[in-house]
Amino acid sequence: MFSEATPAERRRYYREEWGLSQVPDFILDTLSEREFGFDHTGDGPNDRYNLITTPAQLEGVLISAAPYAAYSSVSFYSRPERRKGWRGAELVFDVDAKDLPLRRCSCVPGEVCEVCLDDARGYIMEVAEVLREDFALKELHFVYSGRGYHLRVLDEAVLEMQSQERAQVLDYVAGGVIPEAELLELRRGYPRVFRQRILRLLSLLNREVMRGSGIAPKRAAALLRPKTLRRVANELEEGSFATLREVLGVGGFACFLELVRRLNAEMLDAKVTVDVKRILRLPSSLHSKVSMKCVYVKDIERFDPFKHAVPRFVRERD
Ligand SMILES: [Zn+2]
Repeated sequence: MFSEATPAERRRYYREEWGLSQVPDFILDTLSEREFGFDHTGDGPNDRYNLITTPAQLEGVLISAAPYAAYSSVSFYSRPERRKGWRGAELVFDVDAKDLPLRRCSCVPGEVCEVCLDDARGYIMEVAEVLREDFALKELHFVYSGRGYHLRVLDEAVLEMQSQERAQVLDYVAGGVIPEAELLELRRGYPRVFRQRILRLLSLLNREVMRGSGIAPKRAAALLRPKTLRRVANELEEGSFATLREVLGVGGFACFLELVRRLNAEMLDAKVTVDVKRILRLPSSLHSKVSMKCVYVKDIERFDPFKHAVPRFVRERD
């Protein structure tokens, strides 16, 4: 598993396993407004500016070309073949398991495993919850990208957002800004999101990460005691930072908030969210580098990439 697909395996995948029913309606219904891009060699999507107007045409292209990778734009155009007449773009969040700043597994950078893929899944669900609760967004679609997850938002309200506004939403859902001191303990809104992101990080923190943050080693060690971590977590649920402040001291607490902000900002690929002309891996297509399917996820709670995204040819490899 995770080894590159051969050209023969790609052809077999598109001929025998791929089907139009695996392409989500939100793409099938807007084919002619999107730019399509293909990577035929594994060197990146160099074949761009493609117009595909019907499902039958998409089927024909994928089966005959059996591309290394296939992409479609998150943006809608009146003339996608020229990338002209921009009408709006989905709001997209991208978490890649290979780039997680903190992990519970022993993957080296660039690798993924069941553990970090599941952490990525849990994280993208948290992002979706904030978008639902704090932004009242409803049209949320999850896609397993092959090594992580895309969250694609299609509510009318987001489509015409410009990059700067998208960056602000990103900072909000990720916890990429330290709340103002007097608002830190606010029960609702952004400070609550920031505290939830701290809660997620608490179980992943270790001495090594804290060493570079400016927190004195003795104070870091005191925080990492299981009993202290439990108390800190309980207080954060209630909106209080009392033990954190006490254990870390004034300077250490400031360093801690900055560490959290930095780790939060590294969770999502910001370039994907702010780029309003991006192309994104097409759900149903093959991620040939790792031999996994890019899958439209209907039930994110129960999704398991090792059950639902492994192509048949991988199972039948010698
Ligand atoms: Zn891993």
